[in-house]
Amino acid sequence: MRDGDTLQRFIFEKFPVRGYLVHLDASWRALIEHHPYPEVVRNALGEAVAATMLLSATVKYEGTLTLQVQGPGPMHLLVVQATERRAVRGVARWRGEVKAGSLLELSGEGKMTVTVENSDHTSRYQGIIPITGATLAESFEEYFRSSEQLPTKLWVATNGEGAAGLLLQRLPSGARASAEENEDIAAEGDEDWNRVVQLAATLTSAELMSLTSIEFLHRLFHEEDVRLHEPDPVFFQCTCSRERVTNIVRSLGNDEATEILAERDCVEITCEFCNRAWRFDAVDVASIFLRADMAAVPKIIQ
Ligand SMILES: [Zn+2]
Repeated sequence: MRDGDTLQRFIFEKFPVRGYLVHLDASWRALIEHHPYPEVVRNALGEAVAATMLLSATVKYEGTLTLQVQGPGPMHLLVVQATERRAVRGVARWRGEVKAGSLLELSGEGKMTVTVENSDHTSRYQGIIPITGATLAESFEEYFRSSEQLPTKLWVATNGEGAAGLLLQRLPSGARASAEENEDIAAEGDEDWNRVVQLAATLTSAELMSLTSIEFLHRLFHEEDVRLHEPDPVFFQCTCSRERVTNIVRSLGNDEATEILAERDCVEITCEFCNRAWRFDAVDVASIFLRADMAAVPKIIQ
């Protein structure tokens, strides 16, 4: 049995390498519940969800971290968003028949964007890389190379029941006295890093999906000195709200909203992430545009 919906950190006591393990069970099933994804799209989304949770664990922020994969291919958009509380939501869009293929083929040589935004809007970071690797894990590794410059390796696995991932990251070793000593430490560090990466590479997808954190550490690193931290719970949660959807109605404009109302008895907007339907009747719509008229500066839609 594995650990349910958790994100767990571990560190190697004798050399500067850290790791994260993520398992999504119920949270993954809730995330895909309302979406009839083709298997290949669902798998790409599952891998992206696991990878985004791992990435979010390595970043300090209070707000949202958003991964977006966009391209002209059959799976033209994939969005995953994780908060610092480990809430996750995600959606993928596709067109036509999607054949199995690499991420490069699915997205059609698209790009991957990572945006980290603090809730108080005081800071925003965005990194964009072209998708060059065959797998999502390779694109993430490229992202880490270009943005954080920390050697990072990633493994992800998914199916209809769950998603799981492992991340290993080599951290800078502390400054030492002499250049010679530094060189020795770097060489030793290379050896340790290569060894743990090689061990991790022997892990199968089935093992990644099914082993508990303790079984996993025993299976891979029983000869290493590893400290496992307490797990953080991971859960599916959508951040859509009436206020946010009101902004979408406002962005339609009074004319279009009135036109929709003439055809149907309400303006209905369904959240793509959680499938919740938000309804605005004639009175709601009138009050939105009344307030919009009164506001000197219209609110920016988020
Ligand atoms: Zn929602």
